[in-house]
Amino acid sequence: MDQYAGGCLCGHIRYRSAGAPSFPHYCSCRMCQRASGAPIVAWVEFPREGLAFEGPGGAPALYRSSATMQRGFCPSCGGTICSIEDGSDKVYITIATLDDPNAIVPASQSFPGSAPAWLRLAIASPT
Ligand SMILES: [Zn+2]
Ligand SMILES: [Zn+2]
Repeated sequence: MDQYAGGCLCGHIRYRSAGAPSFPHYCSCRMCQRASGAPIVAWVEFPREGLAFEGPGGAPALYRSSATMQRGFCPSCGGTICSIEDGSDKVYITIATLDDPNAIVPASQSFPGSAPAWLRLAIASPT
């Protein structure tokens, strides 16, 4: 099976997934915007089992952004790495931190109503 690897800007946090990706999507909710500093974030789910953090920093630092969700980031460079929902067997990973961001194509957009009016977005068809 394909493996998906990636990491933050400084390399402190590195991850590798042995599991299959699912639900690749954009999210333009206000929490994703404020957490990342970007108008929209591309996410993909990987099974928590088989997802390994291999960089010198180990697992990302966590910030609880809502009652049921924690956001993982690099404590050194601040890069947005993942979101972890309480009780879920999946972890959301930011597609843009993959070593090959073209490897996974977002197929939908969550919270389109929160996207800035100036953002022009095309949803590509999966290749
Ligand atoms: Zn970093
Ligand atoms: Zn969001």
